Amino acid sequence: MSESLYVVGGTVLTMNAAMDILENGVVEVRDGKIKQVGSADSIAVPAGARTVDARHCLVLPGFINGHTHTGMGLIRGIAEDLPFDQWLNDVILPTEKRWGSPEFVYIGTMLSCAEMIKAGTTTFNDMYHFEEASARAAHAIGMRAICAQDLSSITWEGEKGGSVAERMDEFRSALSGFERITPALGPHAIYTVDRLMFEELISYAADNNLLVHMHLSETKEEVRRCLRENNQTPPEYCNALGLFNVKTVCAHGTCLSPSDIALLASRQVGIVHNPESNLKLETKICPVPELRHAGVAVGLGTDSVASNNDLDLLQEADTAAKLQTYRKGIGTLTAQDTVRMMTIDGARALHMDSVVGSLEVGKRADIVCIDTNKPNAVPLYNPYAQLVYSSTGADARHTMVEGELLMEDYRLTRIDEQALLDEARAWGKRIYADYHKPSAGGAGSRGPQDSALH
Ligand SMILES: [Zn+2]
Repeated sequence: MSESLYVVGGTVLTMNAAMDILENGVVEVRDGKIKQVGSADSIAVPAGARTVDARHCLVLPGFINGHTHTGMGLIRGIAEDLPFDQWLNDVILPTEKRWGSPEFVYIGTMLSCAEMIKAGTTTFNDMYHFEEASARAAHAIGMRAICAQDLSSITWEGEKGGSVAERMDEFRSALSGFERITPALGPHAIYTVDRLMFEELISYAADNNLLVHMHLSETKEEVRRCLRENNQTPPEYCNALGLFNVKTVCAHGTCLSPSDIALLASRQVGIVHNPESNLKLETKICPVPELRHAGVAVGLGTDSVASNNDLDLLQEADTAAKLQTYRKGIGTLTAQDTVRMMTIDGARALHMDSVVGSLEVGKRADIVCIDTNKPNAVPLYNPYAQLVYSSTGADARHTMVEGELLMEDYRLTRIDEQALLDEARAWGKRIYADYHKPSAGGAGSRGPQDSALH
């Protein structure tokens, strides 16, 4: 048993069922878990104990990024101001085809993880090609992640084929020993995975109690096509396949009917809202208040940096809350609701709320301290409004996973940040130069966009 670590002096937002807030709170951490949460009056901190200084901080569960593709970290800003189809088919897919490799995914993920830790995120739910490389990067930097192997019909050179069971068995064995990483299955979407593959992966998920992570009802075209081909909406189609008999989390859900919402609620399917990606790619807006009212667990995600272009959940929360105010009226998604989406409700959407999402005894000690000793946070009347409407990821001061500080006083502890930035910059120069060779084909006519890479 290790010695305890005490997070002291901050205002603790527990995000427990009673939504308790503790002024001058103390969180005792031992063996990676929360041992006690209470006020300074009720928890004695022994003299000489290890402490984390959280004075003038809001202390809350580490943020949960419910949907992202961290391996795309190296192609932020490569395709801008284009309609969705052109963005995807003319630039993103050809770029991935040209550059996609385990090394590209590893360094992209490392960059994404560094950005997330610095913005207070402790858990992310990922899906990409060569996902083993993403898992290795997350493990190396210390984050908690659900890593879903992409199982779509789009494959990259060098990716292994074979049955779902063969691919997943190999993927899971590569991740063994990565205690903070949970393997999952990633059927990209209903239009990139056929019925047979779905049946195979549903049975594998059921046999091994694994999460399925996919995109669902993201565009009107997806819904139109599903109705035309199957006479069912995408959620009805997935339900008929048996997908919702296993733990499932779906990103987007922007084009849902009232009966789709009732179906998702009754089958306990998690939904992850990605407002900035939806706005940037001009898709529809997720009916978050309606889903929440029906009892669906709704989390918050960034999607990838190619369609956002950052991984800052506090900025995402700001957009999410204002977007529903615009769409449905003031109070339909409050600041407190939005913080729930980043923490406990996000954990529910990922079917991991028994492990993380609130500061309660027995849960993993995944904790963020948001600095409020700054001009954008004084005076502070409402901590939830402060987080959603005023703070950004740049205000994250300490980020802890399983009791380990991955960022302490704004400094990453496990990696050399400057070396990572230098390496990512070198990759960017190679990608840019390749596009501008006279013989460059594929995406060369459209991207990456002219810019000063330095
Ligand atoms: Zn996505």
